[in-house]
Amino acid sequence: MRVLVTGGAGYIGSHTTLALLEQGHDVLVVDDLSNSSRESLARVAELTGRTADFVEANVRDANALESAFASFRPDAVIHFAGWKAVGESTQVPLTYYRENVGSTLTLLETMARHDCHTIVFSSSATVYGELSEPPFTEDAPTGATNPYGRTKHMVEQILADVAAADDQLRVGVLRYFNPIGAHESGRIGEDPKGIPNNLLPFVAQVAAGRREKLMVFGDDYPTPDGTGTRDYIHVVDLAAGHLAALDFLTEHDGYHVWNLGTGRPNSVLEVVNAFGEAAGMEIPYQIVARRPGDVASSYADVSRAHAELGWQAHKSVADACADTFRWQSANPNGYAQD
Ligand code: UDP
Repeated sequence: MRVLVTGGAGYIGSHTTLALLEQGHDVLVVDDLSNSSRESLARVAELTGRTADFVEANVRDANALESAFASFRPDAVIHFAGWKAVGESTQVPLTYYRENVGSTLTLLETMARHDCHTIVFSSSATVYGELSEPPFTEDAPTGATNPYGRTKHMVEQILADVAAADDQLRVGVLRYFNPIGAHESGRIGEDPKGIPNNLLPFVAQVAAGRREKLMVFGDDYPTPDGTGTRDYIHVVDLAAGHLAALDFLTEHDGYHVWNLGTGRPNSVLEVVNAFGEAAGMEIPYQIVARRPGDVASSYADVSRAHAELGWQAHKSVADACADTFRWQSANPNGYAQD
C-alpha cells in the first residue's frame, strides 16, 4: 500500500513509518519539522534498509499537499501531525485550532480531490476526560476540558460527519492512552524540545542527570498509592496498532474508533520505580501539588481493538523503561548531536 504519513518524523510517526516500511508499504512523510527531526527518518532508513519519501511542509499548506498527493498518489493517509501540549494550548488556542483542526480540513479536501478514501487519525484518550469511570470503552461519553483536547474531539466529529456524507470514506480513529518507550535498537525515540511535559521523558532526563529530580504531581488521588494512574502503552505496540487499523479499513468502510492501550493502570510511583530498575539507580523525586487539569485515573477497555483488529499490546512498562533508558543513554541530546 502507498501510505502518506503526516507528522511521520515525530515520535509516534517515526515508529509507525518504520513498521510500515518493514511490512513492505511505500511511505511518503509530510512533516514541517517544527517539533521533529529528519534524523529520525535517516535512522528509520538505517534500521529498515528502506527509505520513506519526504516532503518538508505543514499539512495546512494546500499547495504542498496537492503536489504531494499528485506525485505520490497515496492509497491511505495516517494523520499524526499536530500540536500536543495541553498547557501551551491554553496559552495559544488559535494556534491549536489552526494547526490541528485547520490542517485536517485541508487534508480531507485534498484526499477527496485525489480519490484517497482511507484515513487513520491520531486521537487521544483525553477525550474521555472525567465524564465516566475507567476503564473507558469507545462508547463512553466524550468531551474535552482544554483547547488541545477540544481539537482532538472536534476532528473526531468532523471525521464522523464526513464519513456519514461520503460512503466511500474509511476512517479509523485511534485513541491513544499514554505512549512511552522507544524502538529496542535505541536508535529512535522521543525527543521533546525544552522541558518535557510528559512523565517518561522527564524521568529519563532525571536519570541522565539533565534534571535534578522529578516533581510528582499529587499523592492524594483516590488511587492505591495516591499518585495518578495511566495506561502506558509502548510506542512499538502503538505503531503496530496503526497497521492493524489500516488492514481493517481495506475490508471495511465507514467510521470506526479504537482505544489503543494495555488495559492496565500504572501509578506515577510505579513508573518511577520501573525506570529506576531499568536504569540501575534511584530516581530522585519530590511530591508537589496536583497539576491543574489532571484526572486521577485513565485506562482503556481494549476489548474492541482486540476483537476487531486482532491487536493487543505485548510490551510492559518495564520493557518501555529499558528501551527509553537505552535511547536516552545513547542519545543524551536526542537527535541534536548528529
Ligand atoms: N506527572 C508527574 N510529573 C511530571 C509529569 C507527569 O507527576 O513531571 C504525572 C501526571 O500528573 C500524570 C502522569 O504523570 O498522573 C502522566 O502524565 P503525562 O503528562 O505523561 O500524560 P497525561 O496523562 O497527562 O497525558
